[in-house]
Amino acid sequence: MATHRKQFAVIGLGRFGQSVCRTLHDHGHDVLALDISEELTRDVHAAGFATHVIQADSTEIQALQELDIHEYDTVVVAIGSNLEASVLTVLNLLDLGVTDIVAKASYDRHGQVLERVGGSTIRVVYPERQMGERIANSISEADILETIELSPDYSITEIHPPREWIGKSLVEVELRPRYGVTVIAIKSGRELKVAPPGEERFQAGDVITLVGPNDRLDQLRHLSP
Ligand code: ATP
Repeated sequence: MATHRKQFAVIGLGRFGQSVCRTLHDHGHDVLALDISEELTRDVHAAGFATHVIQADSTEIQALQELDIHEYDTVVVAIGSNLEASVLTVLNLLDLGVTDIVAKASYDRHGQVLERVGGSTIRVVYPERQMGERIANSISEADILETIELSPDYSITEIHPPREWIGKSLVEVELRPRYGVTVIAIKSGRELKVAPPGEERFQAGDVITLVGPNDRLDQLRHLSP
């Protein structure tokens, strides 16, 4: 359950939109789901993926205004294949005073248009591309287990300990002074040690979760077995 119940609106109930709705709703948030399609709104209502389900055309500003859309904490625009509908919807949201928009883009040019229109109010996501990268990372031979980009310069990543770290403690390895990264957690078998103390020792097969600048994390990945 979410510690802070938030109000989300999700516009567009394709596969991505429905998955966003369902996950937010499962986390205990209030979710308004909206789609132009009567069939999809009926399906989402029947599946119970949202708190409210509305059939409306989001390119019509009046429809969004009547929903008091500006009162939502975040509005997700999950319209990928119709550029015009995606951009008009974002414009409407901006005009109505929505302060946080997450919008799906299907390709680079689409994303660039959304960024130009939305400026600092919008976060553009490329779900197909990001999921592809994630899956490729998780199945590639390189030992990048999982990486989450926090900003263009910083990430959280998982690595196995390089051979020379095995049996040594965090302090002995001098992770922060030497590599400029911080250990968030170490997973040893089934045990997860969050914010491990400096005397914690690395074992073969551990999965270390690190946060730090991308170039330093890259350096560590190359050391990793
Ligand atoms: P998926 O998430 O399945 O990959 P997609 O990115 O291809 O989908 P679209 O098919 O373009 O996205 O649109 C997703 C949903 O947005 C569809 O269910 C569609 O009915 C809805 N949609 C499109 N235009 C509008 C609009 N003007 N108002 C509201 N909903 C709309």
